Amino acid sequence: MFLLFGTKLGETLLVVVSFICERCGTRAPQRVFKRSTKVTLFFIPLFSLSSSYFVECSNCAAATALTREQATHGVEWAARERQAG
Ligand SMILES: [Zn+2]
Repeated sequence: MFLLFGTKLGETLLVVVSFICERCGTRAPQRVFKRSTKVTLFFIPLFSLSSSYFVECSNCAAATALTREQATHGVEWAARERQAG
């Protein structure tokens, strides 16, 4: 019996929100990503081992780690902005 296990790193773009970047001080689109490590069996993703969130500034490319709550708030905030606009 031969089993081929591995891990795969994936990044998913959750939402793009526009706010003033802490690092460059410019109001620019900030992309919120979810990064997850998945366990694979014969290259097929089975389940997520761990996941983390971060936001990346489109102006200076600074990446800032986010908590799950912060990422969720960002998605909800963007949804409300769309409805209002
Ligand atoms: Zn920036």
